[in-house]
Amino acid sequence: MSDVLDLTSDLISRRSVTPEDAGCLPLIGGRLERAGFRVEYLRYGEVDNLWATHGQENQPGSGPTLIFLGHTDVVPSGPEGAWRSPPFEPTVVDGRLYGRGAADMKGSVAAMVVALEQFVATHPHHRGRVGLLLTSDEEGPTNLDGVRRVVEHFRTTGERIDWCVVGEPSSQAKLGDLIRVGRRGSLSATLTVRGVQGHVAYPDQALNPIHAFAPALAELAAERWDEGNGDFPPTSFQVSNLNAGTGANNVIPGTLTALINFRYSTASTAAKLRARAEAILQRHGLDYALQWNLSGEPFLTPPGGVLRETVVAVCRELCGIDPEQSTGGGTSDGRFIAPLGVEVVEVGPVNATIHKANECVALAELEQLPGVYREVCERMLG
Ligand SMILES: [Zn+2]
Repeated sequence: MSDVLDLTSDLISRRSVTPEDAGCLPLIGGRLERAGFRVEYLRYGEVDNLWATHGQENQPGSGPTLIFLGHTDVVPSGPEGAWRSPPFEPTVVDGRLYGRGAADMKGSVAAMVVALEQFVATHPHHRGRVGLLLTSDEEGPTNLDGVRRVVEHFRTTGERIDWCVVGEPSSQAKLGDLIRVGRRGSLSATLTVRGVQGHVAYPDQALNPIHAFAPALAELAAERWDEGNGDFPPTSFQVSNLNAGTGANNVIPGTLTALINFRYSTASTAAKLRARAEAILQRHGLDYALQWNLSGEPFLTPPGGVLRETVVAVCRELCGIDPEQSTGGGTSDGRFIAPLGVEVVEVGPVNATIHKANECVALAELEQLPGVYREVCERMLG
């Protein structure tokens, strides 16, 4: 059994459903310590995080820092009966390794560890620093005590990071066919529109919030928020929930609630979108309240960025494919690291089975992945 297959299998057999770590981080920390890394465990609330570095101390004037970012937690398996093999028993069938987290993202984490061990063994005096940051709180609903908290800690300790490779499963059909060079922002709100409850037969004595909101909703849905730009598609606005009514067909409801979400590009800002949405509501004379929640700002590693160009070149040469450079998909922990002024690029295995029953990774791609990460180290710091 190869090193990366062995370590991925060991991680899959640990039931690390968020925020449980089930011993994944100490297993990895122990290996990296033996390879000469300084290893720190950062525990916040119920969440374990690991920060391992190798090379020069973090000082002004020392060389650049390249880190790898990943998570050891996984989503629940769902009904085990839907799996052909038990989700927490790593199983190889027809050239694929099955198990929860095989692709998202224990395979990438194992590949990063193997790549880092090999890189520092062959380059004990590489320039700058290499590091690994892992959390067990990426898949949960809040991500409060994972990378978000670690980055707050980094701000107080003055940690400098230049480049970050995230191992999220970015590829679509073949390893390296798509890399993420940024992510859209996500801005949500709960909107409450207030009316006056009454009898449907006496509408002059009531105020129907459904009727009041409908023209504003039409305008919000038709609004062109921006045109996007070279790196991002146009900002999208969606209503995910719309509720009003008592269940009776003779009562005009007193309130209406709507959950809304913007996935927005760097062509807009959260503050501008909020102001424009509120202006529409006000123009329609609505009595409303809005509770906003900004879960992630957009980030972009622009073309010409040295990490972005390096990862593209490595995909071309090692995977034999010219990667699509995308800002699509949901958010990732990269959103917390990028505001430190870090170039962030995401490259990992095929994402076709992530979060599903029978999650798997192709053995050929799993075996290729440490070489991809190691080559990035070689070119950035070798
Ligand atoms: Zn993931």
